[in-house]
Amino acid sequence: MISKIKGSAFTSVHCVPKFCSQCSVSLSVKFIKYEKQERLVCGGCGYIAYLNPVTVAGTIPVYKGKILLLKRGIQPQKGKWTFPAGFVELGESAEDAAVRETWEETGIKVKIGPMVGAYSYRDSGVTTIVYVAAPIGGKIRTCRESSAIKKFAVTNIPWQDLAFRSSVDALKDWLEKQ
Ligand SMILES: [Zn+2]
Repeated sequence: MISKIKGSAFTSVHCVPKFCSQCSVSLSVKFIKYEKQERLVCGGCGYIAYLNPVTVAGTIPVYKGKILLLKRGIQPQKGKWTFPAGFVELGESAEDAAVRETWEETGIKVKIGPMVGAYSYRDSGVTTIVYVAAPIGGKIRTCRESSAIKKFAVTNIPWQDLAFRSSVDALKDWLEKQ
């Protein structure tokens, strides 16, 4: 499992750690009998460094039938379109993070609506939770992470130019409910 992780797309969000976060001694791959699989284990204190997916939260802001998407200003998928989203930080709920990221990336304040879905893939190190959102204030502006922001009619969503699988899957799920 560890060797699979080291050579995969996981590493775009997960740096496989070399040292123990508890005591700084080197980690090495060991087979853990009671878990029946390989793990990264500390040679000093025995700490097991588990590698888990990280959570991303985002919103699909809806304006009278149009949705707000942004063009990514940074890698990965720079230049492609998606809805505002980003990593959930410790101390936040997924809803909090979705609202904050929407504000940071687009300048608009939103009220969270129903969840569209949670998007998780075996070969991705990210789980993305997406909510519908109603704009309640702010002013649209770009930032380092968003090079353009545009309202798209549902008939005009740039399907060929969407950034992530979760962008496509969440927008399809949202559309089905309209
Ligand atoms: Zn240790």
